[in-house]
Amino acid sequence: MNPWIAKAVILAASLALIAIRAPHGHRSRSIKVVKSRKGTLEIVLLSLMWIAFFVPLIWIAAPAFSFAEYPLRAGPLVAGIVCFAAGLWLFFRSHADLGTNWSITLEVRDQHQLITHGVYRRIRHPMYTAFFLYSIGQALVIPNWVVGPSYLVPFMILFACRVGAEERMMVEQFGDAYTAYVTRSKRLVPGIW
Ligand code: SAH
Repeated sequence: MNPWIAKAVILAASLALIAIRAPHGHRSRSIKVVKSRKGTLEIVLLSLMWIAFFVPLIWIAAPAFSFAEYPLRAGPLVAGIVCFAAGLWLFFRSHADLGTNWSITLEVRDQHQLITHGVYRRIRHPMYTAFFLYSIGQALVIPNWVVGPSYLVPFMILFACRVGAEERMMVEQFGDAYTAYVTRSKRLVPGIW
């Protein structure tokens, strides 16, 4: 299959990701941060995620990664598009449900409220589930051994380093309400983990 199909899908997915995030990024700047756990590791990992976001766009525009190319097939392409669609939907919904409580990093905002409804009802980290789906979608759609997993790998590292600290921060902030929420929800996959 023509690799430009994969390039068009990646471009559309990247633009959708930016379009969903942009208004929340803009709004969050006006909401006061009352507690921050943004350490050096968090800054390094967030920077890595930013760089990783641009790797597929470089792949679209330049032949820099052509040494790692393999043929595009319909099966992984379709599976990847399904992952993108599910991931982007969940990304949209989790931003909508989290509202003004969202932060790009580990922060507690002014008037922060614990959200346990909508897509947060059964899992505590739907936005991270969305990023996993998106990253897996990218790995399936891009027929390139280097560029395909270029978002999944740094995101797995970010998730592994962040999720424990985030949950500890939430327990500090919301106490028993968060502990009770932990007992009735899973981290990423409803009913499983
Ligand atoms: N881990 C969540 C949220 C990611 S945004 C998810 O994957 O959907 C990160 C910020 O969201 C954290 O700084 C924290 O302050 C906030 N947060 C995480 N879970 C929350 C919840 N259930 N209710 C309110 N804020 C939450």
